Amino acid sequence: MSDAELVLRSTRVITPEGTRAASVQVAGGTITAVLPYDAPVPDGARLEDVGDHVVLPGLVDTHVHVNDPGRTEWEGFWTATRAAAAGGITTLVDMPLNSLPPTTTVDHLRVKQKVAADKAHIDVGFWGGALPDNVKDLRPLHEAGVFGFKAFLSPSGVDEFPHLDQEQLARSLAEIASFDGLLIVHAEDPHHLAAAPQHGGPKYAHFLASRPRDAEDTAIANLIAQAKRFDARVHILHLSSSDALPLIAEARAEGVRLTVETCPHYLTLTAEEVPDGASEFKCCPPIREAANQDLLWQALADGTIDCVVTDHSPSTPDLKTDDFATAWGGISGLQLSMSAVWTAARERGHSLEDVVRWMSSATAGLAGLDRKGAIEAGRDADFAVVAPDETFTVDPAALQHRNRVTAYAGRTLYGVVKSTWLRGERIVADGAFTEPKGRLLTRTP
Ligand SMILES: [Zn+2]
Repeated sequence: MSDAELVLRSTRVITPEGTRAASVQVAGGTITAVLPYDAPVPDGARLEDVGDHVVLPGLVDTHVHVNDPGRTEWEGFWTATRAAAAGGITTLVDMPLNSLPPTTTVDHLRVKQKVAADKAHIDVGFWGGALPDNVKDLRPLHEAGVFGFKAFLSPSGVDEFPHLDQEQLARSLAEIASFDGLLIVHAEDPHHLAAAPQHGGPKYAHFLASRPRDAEDTAIANLIAQAKRFDARVHILHLSSSDALPLIAEARAEGVRLTVETCPHYLTLTAEEVPDGASEFKCCPPIREAANQDLLWQALADGTIDCVVTDHSPSTPDLKTDDFATAWGGISGLQLSMSAVWTAARERGHSLEDVVRWMSSATAGLAGLDRKGAIEAGRDADFAVVAPDETFTVDPAALQHRNRVTAYAGRTLYGVVKSTWLRGERIVADGAFTEPKGRLLTRTP
């Protein structure tokens, strides 16, 4: 085999050492070398010169609810992975709930893998679920290749995925720590939620008051104590409350093995601007005030928050009613996540390299995906080719996810994805897709 079947050349390639003009050589779907821009193209290799468009490592989204099988009318692997590919994402890790069955036993994992296999336009891995009654299933799931285990500390929104009380959390965490697995947690404390005012109805301010910051802060404090007790690896999902940041920073400084993610909607949308009744903006924990958002950005900048993931969690439009208390909670962000984050990041003086760190390198690291998340020799040749200074206006009709409900409609965003590449093959270019070429991923043992 020649050193290269493909050479992808750009004046701006984002590598772990920074952005530079480079020729990226690819053979057998793997990056074989990152060479100077004008390095000779090996005999037999195809040259793709993308000019001044930026080549970045394909994004890795470790928080996606695909809902397939069982609630495929909400979202399925075909539509979700197309939306992801259109947005420059080349790997997603699917959450264990909202599909039927949930990913809580090895048999259930096999069902999900079978359904995903022929529909995946990008690479797909799976999180397992930790329920009150499945401690015995955790190790077999780990051995079958899930990347870790998701748990809720308050009701999840679906009956088949009950939450853990503190005692059940301790039991699951002890088991997961015994094989040094990763527990990922939806951290809102049920007692604080129950004590909060529950007005219901279309007013966003009422919804916000029903999911207070101290519900997150208390759950996170408890989690930190449990992580210490078992010396366990714990990851906080979709952090919204900036009040929890000092606790997190302190725990990390003490050496607690804690990682943290937040989401594009917490970084780009604010409570002040959510129209009453607009439940396309509903998610849990909720989008909070602008001042809270400023602190989340600061925490990304100083490394207290590690990564940014979509928490793409759609439903059919009929469940997005104008009553915030009963409407489905979840924001559909797959296709727009990079552009939304980049638009806000550039205004705050961050670079596209920062966005790549938050949305590709750090997420790949979280899941232990050592072939993803960077443009360097030995990694998969997964790329997004992006025009960072071009803008587009979000038109719901142009979205690929199944139900075209979006909180970003009408916004003008920077960062147009020109093409997306998976293992050296262009899987989407200017809105045209190839047949699915994604693979199913399992945890690297
Ligand atoms: Zn989620």
